[in-house]
Amino acid sequence: MNIELIFPILLLIIVVIYIFLSLIIELYKKARIDYVMKSSKKIKKIVDLNNEIDFDFIVEEMTFKERLNSKTQFDNYDYYKHALNYVDENYDIIRKYIKVLDDRNNIFFDYYKQYKKIMNSKRNKTIECNRFYFRNIEKYELYENALCEKVRTKNINKVNLTIMIDYRSNMGRNYYSDFRYYNSDDMVELLEDARVVRKNKERASYQRSLMSMSLRYDVLKRDNYKCCICGASARMDGVKLEVDHIKPISKGGKTVLNNLQTLCMDCNRGKSNK
Ligand SMILES: [Zn+2]
Repeated sequence: MNIELIFPILLLIIVVIYIFLSLIIELYKKARIDYVMKSSKKIKKIVDLNNEIDFDFIVEEMTFKERLNSKTQFDNYDYYKHALNYVDENYDIIRKYIKVLDDRNNIFFDYYKQYKKIMNSKRNKTIECNRFYFRNIEKYELYENALCEKVRTKNINKVNLTIMIDYRSNMGRNYYSDFRYYNSDDMVELLEDARVVRKNKERASYQRSLMSMSLRYDVLKRDNYKCCICGASARMDGVKLEVDHIKPISKGGKTVLNNLQTLCMDCNRGKSNK
């Protein structure tokens, strides 16, 4: 035999043995898994639980894309403001999603509780495991726990929003893009923020609607038709008098006599510029 061939042949034999052993190990591993899957009461209970429960997950991925016109706009982009705006514009549908999300999450939490109960249930230690596959029950349990984790249903409920922005500079030389991701918890908060904004808007327009001609007259009369700041009057000084909210509506002020005052136009502009 040619001496130069010994080395390659030896190498070939080692490789073949290696592949063969790996194959045996893989098959053995697979047989172990099959054995646990078939014999485990825990896994059977989890599979039954999976089949018993109607998860019907909600998966809503919303996206808002905006192409910006300058790098400054891109750098100073207010994601929260735009996310809030998006939620406000789609308020009813997102509120519906969040409600469904809440219900579906409750179903899942109940499931998870039952899963944990199964996992924590005490094993009858007298059960013998097949010695060919596992030396002892602890080794068996190691496999069993990993498989239970694999078999259990994962929560994929989500109502998400991604805000994507990009900007392409003149002549398309530079391209910038970025995004923010709002997960289900963020969406619950955004919805609550949007609700507060809506409530305030509603309150403000209601308070504005309370400003009647007769209330206006009552205020002017009470203040002797004079500006409460500079004392100018319509008749003597020819100024235009206005009725002003002392505490502005936007800051929670009400349209009631004791929150109203007579101001001349100049004083009123001066006040609102502060
Ligand atoms: Zn004045």
